[in-house]
Amino acid sequence: MPIQILQKAFAKAPFAKSKPPKRDFRIGIPRVLNQWSTHKFWTTLFVELGINRRNIVYSSDTSEAQQLKFGKGRGAVDCCYPVKCMSGHYGELLDGQKRPIDILFVPIILTVPSFLRGHVRENMACPRVIAGPESTRAGFRREKDVFKELGVHYLSPAVSLADPQIATRQLYDALKGVITDLRLAELRAAVAKAYDALQEFDQSLRRQSLAVLSECATQHRPCILALGRPYHMDTGIGHAIESELQAFGYPILWGQYLPLDAEILDWLYGDLIKAGRIQSPFDISDIWKTSHSANTNELLWAARYGSIMPWITCSIRFSSYECGMDQPTYSPVQEITEALGTLFFVFQDLDETKPAGSVRIRVETIAYYLEQKSPKIIQSKLEALKTAPPELLLPT
Ligand code: SF4
Repeated sequence: MPIQILQKAFAKAPFAKSKPPKRDFRIGIPRVLNQWSTHKFWTTLFVELGINRRNIVYSSDTSEAQQLKFGKGRGAVDCCYPVKCMSGHYGELLDGQKRPIDILFVPIILTVPSFLRGHVRENMACPRVIAGPESTRAGFRREKDVFKELGVHYLSPAVSLADPQIATRQLYDALKGVITDLRLAELRAAVAKAYDALQEFDQSLRRQSLAVLSECATQHRPCILALGRPYHMDTGIGHAIESELQAFGYPILWGQYLPLDAEILDWLYGDLIKAGRIQSPFDISDIWKTSHSANTNELLWAARYGSIMPWITCSIRFSSYECGMDQPTYSPVQEITEALGTLFFVFQDLDETKPAGSVRIRVETIAYYLEQKSPKIIQSKLEALKTAPPELLLPT
């Protein structure tokens, strides 16, 4: 099986099959922030509510051109780069559509679904992510109310997406204002389908990661772990640096979509559990006490996974300009990664400038180290695990 780029699989995954349209709205959704990990939920929800799939429009990846054309003069009062970019997405959906939208839908995602739920303190979104929709909206109402002028309904419900029961109620309260004949039972059924679709999407990416790891194990070759936040898959935010590395022949795995099969987790974490250091493979209490933020929790968890998994010989850390959330994680992530000899590199303070020359030099440096060091790293990590890899990874 060819080794695939997960980012592409993520961005181009097929959407839910459309039901016959019942409701004639055109909805625009900015492709920003936690939409990168939850868009499958939203698309399925609206399709299940009878909106034609073709009438659910996402903005493009972030780009300088998008920002210049649609976001200029409408900037948010926020120095954090991924939030600043939101105005370009709003503008593209409001001003850049051949067929205008009726609704701009920007959920304020308070909590994020996570496979670590129940093992960590909370699954909150970053506070700046939560505030982002409102601060961006303000830029479109500063001089005149652009929404009013264009006749676009701005719909931005706060949604605790990690808790299906609460999320259903929040969505019902918000959506019945625009879908006047909406029944609670109908919404409940749509929400259940949306969660199923999101889960299936996540699982399909985990299956691809497993195939990549298994291929690496069979061929005794290394791969790279990308440690970032979901929006670093946006080519305008993460600058597709991981694709440049992949071009050197090193497949990329994203930390959010690592395989969670019990055989693999038992193999990786068995000793830590036996030693009483952690209670389960999903326990991060020994390395991250303040586990309130879903994306940060997953980042720390993935760093440890990558530090133990033999064929992940290098982890690359991505972080955006002015990220307050990432500051306290820099040292722990590096220490965890390097504990068993995994290579660690950082692309920090990413913003709109992509210094192509310096990225190229750093990518070449990383590729050089991977080539030189990987065989030894694989060998020593295999020895540290003591038992043989599970069949799932290395069929006998
Ligand atoms: S995680 Fe960091 S970069 Fe991302 S929205 Fe929050 S503060 Fe900004």
